[in-house]
Order: sequence, then C-alpha cells, then structure tokens
Amino acid sequence: MIIVLLGPPGAGKGTQADKLAQRLGIPKIATGDVLRAALRDGTARGKEAKAYMDRGDLVPDSVILGILRDVMSSPAAAKGAILDGAVRTVPQAEGLAIMLAELGRGVDKVLLFDISDDKLTERLSGRTVCEKCQTPYMGRQAGSKCEKCGGSLMRRKDDEPEAIRNRLRVYRDQTAPVIEWYGEKGSKVQKVDADAPVDEVTSRALKALKK
Ligand code: ADP
Ligand code: AMP
Repeated sequence: MIIVLLGPPGAGKGTQADKLAQRLGIPKIATGDVLRAALRDGTARGKEAKAYMDRGDLVPDSVILGILRDVMSSPAAAKGAILDGAVRTVPQAEGLAIMLAELGRGVDKVLLFDISDDKLTERLSGRTVCEKCQTPYMGRQAGSKCEKCGGSLMRRKDDEPEAIRNRLRVYRDQTAPVIEWYGEKGSKVQKVDADAPVDEVTSRALKALKK
C-alpha cells in the first residue's frame, strides 16, 4: 500500500508515519529526513538543498522527484511506503503519479492531518529531533539522548520563528492545492483531526485508512 501523508509542518506527519510504519509493516519515506541526511553527509544533493531548507522554502521539484524515483524503485518499497511530506506541490504529485504508473503502481490512500496554526506553531517551537535517526520529540532539551538510537537531540534551524512563518505561507500557497489535485484525480483525501494525543491520532489514522 502506498500512503501519502499531507498536512502543515508540525501537524505530526513524521510522528504518525513512524507509528503507521510499525503497525502496517511498510517503510516511512520522509523527503525532509533524506535531505537532512544528505546535508549531514555533505553530498551534492544536500548542498543544493541547504539554503532552501534553512529558509523554510521548498527544495526544487526535480530534486524531490529524483529522491522519490530512487526510493520507490528500491526493494525497500516493494510492499509499499508511507510518504511523509514527500508531495508538496502539484508538479510533485503529477510526477509521482507518472513514476508510479511506470512501475505499475499508484497511490492507494491520502491522509490529511488537520490542526490549527496556533497549535502547530507551539509544537514546532518545542520540537527537538535526533541528529542521527531524526525521530521528533516534544518537551525534551537539545543535547539529551534519543530513546531509539542514543543520538543527540537538536533543534532544527527551520523551527525558528521566521522560518516557521515562511513554512506556513509556503504550505498555504504551494502545498494546499495538492489536496484538491488528489480529489480531482479520484483519490479521496481522508481528513484526520491531529489535535489529540499521539496514540489517539494513530487510531484515527488507522480508521481513516480503512474507509
Ligand atoms: P511534522 O512531521 O508534521 O512536521 P512532527 O511529527 O515532527 O510533525 O511533530 C511536530 C512536533 O509535535 C514534534 O515535536 C512531535 O514530538 C510533536 N507531536 C507530534 N504529534 C503530537 C501530538 N499528537 N501531540 C503532541 N505533540 C505531538
Ligand atoms: P520536513 O522535514 O518534512 O519538515 O521538511 C523540511 C524541509 O525539507 C522543508 O521545509 C523543505 O525545505 C524540504 N522538503 C522536504 N520535503 C520536500 C518536498 N516534498 N518538496 C520540497 N521541499 C521539501
């Protein structure tokens, strides 16, 4: 099953993608994580993406579609994938659909995590992430240790107030039209109220996937 997770930054896509990956036995593919790893490793892709990411702008579609092509044609995605933040513009949605059709596949489900701007600003302002495995945490100090891999927790540069404001603008202008695009293509977008404890949101998401 190929599942696309949509929603503004801070809605909890990464958190829920981890939970759903465990429950469904298919991998999470987060383009943000792939880009941050490329940045950390100093690759050409990482260097190209850095300035866009620091400002909270979108990385060019060609870069994202290159990542999606690599991962979707790899054995790891043979059983399916949970695409977290990986489709953020209409050209990306179109490119993914063409690429999957070439592989004889398609997007099966689209979930939209819904939350207020105030709530997500609060979440992003309190977020730390593991610098190694990128697991997000809430209410944990930068410098403390990741429960999963022992890596050090850090604040993301794009979780500073100005970058958060820009990311919300970018979401409204460039990503929100993707919701309508999927609707027009006949994929019903299932809305999930993301303003609840993590496990409750996971239950809602699993229920939405059965609809
Ligand atoms: P996204 O991937 O959509 O940007 P994250 O999954 O990184 O969002 O979540 C943003 C922040 O909110 C993280 O610090 C995460 O630990 C926290 N978070 C995620 N879901 C919830 C929830 N249901 N309740 C409270 N905090 C949450
Ligand atoms: P995320 O980890 O999903 O919050 O993404 C962090 C940043 O990576 C975004 O603000 C963008 O700069 C970049 N990024 C991640 N995914 C995409 C995408 N699908 N399209 C464009 N840029 C992306």
